[in-house]
Amino acid sequence: MVDDTLRVELEAPDIAIWKTGNVDIEYVHCLDSGLPGPDAMINAVIHGNELCGAVALDTLLKSGLQPTRGRLTLCFVNPEAYARFDPAEPTRSRFVDEDMNRVWTNDRLDGSDVSIELRRARELRPLYDRVDRLLDIHSMGTRSAPILLIHGLEKERRFSRDMRVPATVAGGSGHVEGRRLIEYAPFNDPANDKIAVLVECGHHWAKASAVVALDTALYFLKALDMVSPAFFDAHVCDRTPGPQTILEVTDGHTIRSDDFYFSSKFRGLEEFPKAGQVIAVDGGEELRTPYDGCVLVMPNHRAVRGQRAFRLARRVPES
Ligand SMILES: [Zn+2]
Repeated sequence: MVDDTLRVELEAPDIAIWKTGNVDIEYVHCLDSGLPGPDAMINAVIHGNELCGAVALDTLLKSGLQPTRGRLTLCFVNPEAYARFDPAEPTRSRFVDEDMNRVWTNDRLDGSDVSIELRRARELRPLYDRVDRLLDIHSMGTRSAPILLIHGLEKERRFSRDMRVPATVAGGSGHVEGRRLIEYAPFNDPANDKIAVLVECGHHWAKASAVVALDTALYFLKALDMVSPAFFDAHVCDRTPGPQTILEVTDGHTIRSDDFYFSSKFRGLEEFPKAGQVIAVDGGEELRTPYDGCVLVMPNHRAVRGQRAFRLARRVPES
């Protein structure tokens, strides 16, 4: 069978043209309406090989977007990793020194470790301390349908419903090492009104992922009442989003052996009606669905020992 998970359909836009923005941090652009309103931010390429967010921000910047209220910051988060993207080896440029979506603890950010990603994270940190709405755009290694990842707080669920896309929302971390940006302290606090969400737009280099990235950015801005109907209508693809499913991640599996395999070529979002179904084997141990109606989220067929291979989730009933 041909492995189509390395097929690169998207062309990486030249983001070097956005290096000098209108704030004193490179690859950051602030669009200010001059009117009161949300302080919002959209991130692309925190993982350097995930092209869809770069396409979306490049499109928004070229199209002359002006927020109708508040201010909108557009940021290419890890341009050094992105600059290393090579379609011949598309998985290589996820990061330069370390995964930039695992460093968001005060210990790491205030500590003495040195890496390209930590340096950039420290440079951008004041922005994340300031903004009150964040959309972080990512893509996935499998051909799963798009997923909005939230930490799981009620304020995030409410905002996800306001956004209306994508159709699947998953809350909970599934025991990841380190902290993701959406879990960074100012966002991950039920006591304040700051909200960060992460969208996984589909397969890393699929054409459709860039469409999903732009649509999600537009619906994010629409939920915040920051985009004119004319601009929204001129750029949106999915005009009639369907109902959303909310999932609660209950478990995650980090590979423990050098002999791990899935029982099938899962794409993600498969639902297993019965508890006890084998989904993977790790060092001879069968890993089974722990309850009825279990949903497999983001299986990682390239994960190795010490990396997360999948998450499991259950549906949250409509409230
Ligand atoms: Zn990512």
